[in-house]
This record gives sequence, structure tokens and C-alpha cells, in this order.
Amino acid sequence: MKQLIDRFGRVHNAMRISVTDKCNLRCHYCMPVTGVACAPREQLLSFEQIVATVRVANRLGIDRIRVTGGEPLLRRELPALIGMLKRETDSTNVSLTTNALLLERHAEALAEAGLDRVNVSLDSLRPDRFEKITRHGVLETVWRGIEAATRVGLAPIKINTLLLSGFNDDEIDDWIELTMQHDISVRFMELMPIGEGAKMGDIGGYLNLTELKDRLVETRGLVALGGDGGNGPACYYGVPGAKGKLGFITPLSNKYCGTCSRMRLTSTGELRACLAFDKHVDISEAIRRGDEEGIEAGFVRAIGEKPAGHNWENGQVTRIGMSTLGG
Ligand code: SAM
Ligand code: SF4
Repeated sequence: MKQLIDRFGRVHNAMRISVTDKCNLRCHYCMPVTGVACAPREQLLSFEQIVATVRVANRLGIDRIRVTGGEPLLRRELPALIGMLKRETDSTNVSLTTNALLLERHAEALAEAGLDRVNVSLDSLRPDRFEKITRHGVLETVWRGIEAATRVGLAPIKINTLLLSGFNDDEIDDWIELTMQHDISVRFMELMPIGEGAKMGDIGGYLNLTELKDRLVETRGLVALGGDGGNGPACYYGVPGAKGKLGFITPLSNKYCGTCSRMRLTSTGELRACLAFDKHVDISEAIRRGDEEGIEAGFVRAIGEKPAGHNWENGQVTRIGMSTLGG
């Protein structure tokens, strides 16, 4: 079996696929109020083209697929793509990252299609703050989406919460309380200097989550949880007796580039091996030609050029935003 191993010995087994760069929210750290220039419709990879690309990726050892965006549920018939990925590829895990505004409507179809897991991005438990950070989101809609996903068996849901100092860092106890009562993983994330995220300041700023985690171990008795809480970079902790758990994703304060196992495929067919660099390999032509060798060569080249890691801690800024990269 072939494997995608880079110059630093990292084996790649996961890929994030952005299916659209459009979004129905405008989170301050991700998108400008005017939105981003979206790729013309005819440049978007079709579901068949995405599946064909994933089949090549499977043969190279990539078997964990996360569908993302932009807001992936804006892509028409998304559950059909999930079904195709489950039936027509050798991916062992197909998951979705969403802001959940449309989750209530699609939860059942997603579960029926075989979706393995859903991550919901939600930065605040307070309606006014949620509206502020997203510029117009309605918190209640997100909760209805989470409840619908739980009802159809997509639990345990993971919630991704971007913690910003001076904005939502006073809600940490409320999130911990939520994990006490519910079988839910709340994953705190650090702001990254990507796209709009590099220009933050007016609403809230970077918060060091390694320091926060150490403080919570002292003050709240958090204990490290053994075993796998997922395949990603989160380290998991819990309050003894809690039903759920807390994850800490610390790209700056405790860099995890050394264990990165991910590729990214944009909605127009660019392979991005590292989210911190704008460098990419365009495999769209090979995909359109149905040229499997060309697609494979693209993966090999992207992996061969993958840098050791970001340099954000020393002022590097990534120009392209998360909504295009496929966060
Ligand atoms: N729209 C979907 C959502 O929000 O879940 C999927 C795409 S969104 C780009 C994926 C994730 O990227 C979200 O959890 C969001 O918080 C995160 N994100 C966006 N910009 C970020 C930044 N500058 N730093 C850290 N995380 C960021
Ligand atoms: Fe949209 Fe997700 Fe970006 Fe928010 S983080 S603007 S929901 S793509």
C-alpha cells in the first residue's frame, strides 16, 4: 500500500475538502462583512470529481475525510455527496464541519447518508455575543441543529469554540458546566493569523490556551483523558464524573505541526498541504480530465513540498482565509 510520507517523516491519512467558499455567516475572524470573492460555479468540483479524487487519495493512504467550507451545507444536495463518499470510496471516516444554521433541515438526510461525525463551530452560549461575532447568526437555530443531529444519532457532537481574550473568555465555566451535563466534546481553539484572523483586535484577541488549560487543571481539577478523542490535534481533558469532555487546540502555544497528517482540497481543486502557506498544487485539470495518474502526481508533489510547519509565532501571516482553505 502506498503512503504519503513527507520530507519530515509525517504520514498523511486525512483530508479536508472544501465544497464551497460561500457562507451564510460572516465571523469576524474568518470573513469580511462583504464576504470573499467566490469561485465561479463552473470552477467548482462536481460531486463525481470529488469522489474520483478521494478514491485516488484512498490508494495513497488517506482514509479520513472531513467535508467543510465555507459553509458546506450551502452546497446543494450535500447529503448526496456524503452518501457517495461512504459508498463509492474506501474512506473509513467521513465527517462534517458546519456552523449548523442549516443542520436541523439536513440532519436526518446526513445520518441516512452514513455521515460518521459532525463538528459544530459555536463561539458563544450568549445570543447577543453569537450574533456579534458572526455578524448576524441566531444562536437558537444552531441549538436546534445540534439537537436534531443528536436525535438522529450523530452524537457525540463536537463543538469548536474559538476563544478570544476580552470577548468570550468569561464563558469558560459555562462550557465546562455543559460538558458536566451532556455527552459533548467542547474543543477550545486558538485564533490563527489567517485571513481576517490576522486583523482582529476590535472584538477580541488571541488567547493562550496552553496557559488556560494549565490553570484549569489547578483550579477545576481537569484531568487528562487517555485514548483517542479524535484523530486531530486536540488534547482532551475532563472534569471527573463529567459526561462530556474538553479539548484544547493550540496551534500557537503548543505547536503540533510535527504530527500533522492532513491535506486540504479546495472547492476548485487546489491541493494545500499546509494551511499556513499560500503555496498549492492545482490538480483541477487532472481531475477534469479524469487523469488518475495526474491526480496522484499532484498529491505526491504537494506532500514533497510541504513545509515543516508554520512560523506564526514569529509574525508570519497567512493571506488566504479559512473559508477558502477549508478550515
Ligand atoms: N463554516 C463552517 C464552520 O464554521 O464550522 C466550516 C468552515 S470554518 C472556516 C471552519 C473552522 O475554521 C471554524 O471552526 C472556525 O472557527 C475556524 N476558523 C476560521 N477562521 C479562523 C481563524 N482565523 N483562526 C482559527 N480558527 C478559524
Ligand atoms: Fe462562515 Fe465558518 Fe467562516 Fe464563520 S467560520 S464565516 S461560519 S466559514
